Amino acid sequence: MKKVADSAKTLNKQHFRPYVDQEGGINVYSSLTRKQGRILFRLRSNHAGFGTYKAKIYGESPLSANCVDVEEDLEHIVFKCPSYNGYRSNIFGFFIKKNVAPSMQLVLGGFKSVPENVEIARILLQFFSDIGRALDV
Ligand SMILES: [Zn+2]
Repeated sequence: MKKVADSAKTLNKQHFRPYVDQEGGINVYSSLTRKQGRILFRLRSNHAGFGTYKAKIYGESPLSANCVDVEEDLEHIVFKCPSYNGYRSNIFGFFIKKNVAPSMQLVLGGFKSVPENVEIARILLQFFSDIGRALDV
């Protein structure tokens, strides 16, 4: 009986807190600069100013400027947009090293260990810097 209650608790916790930010005195946000932390928070909360966000807030086109008839969301930019094919080697390299399939959940901090989440956050932020979308407005 206790087991069921514990697993329900775990499920709830995962539902409300999908990212692992704190572990053994290490914190993802305090391991990043304030600017990096702000950008990571925007990416996680889907407020980073991509097409789908601009469409919702400003009524602008949600479409990618680089692709035909494709909505520009985070997943498109990070994993799919052919315009950025040359910039993903560090992201995919990290997943190959960890031997797990790439996903947005993991890219944004879904690994079970905080050091991994810090490392992938830095890689992700470098990717945005490399593609010229610094997201630090
Ligand atoms: Zn595209």
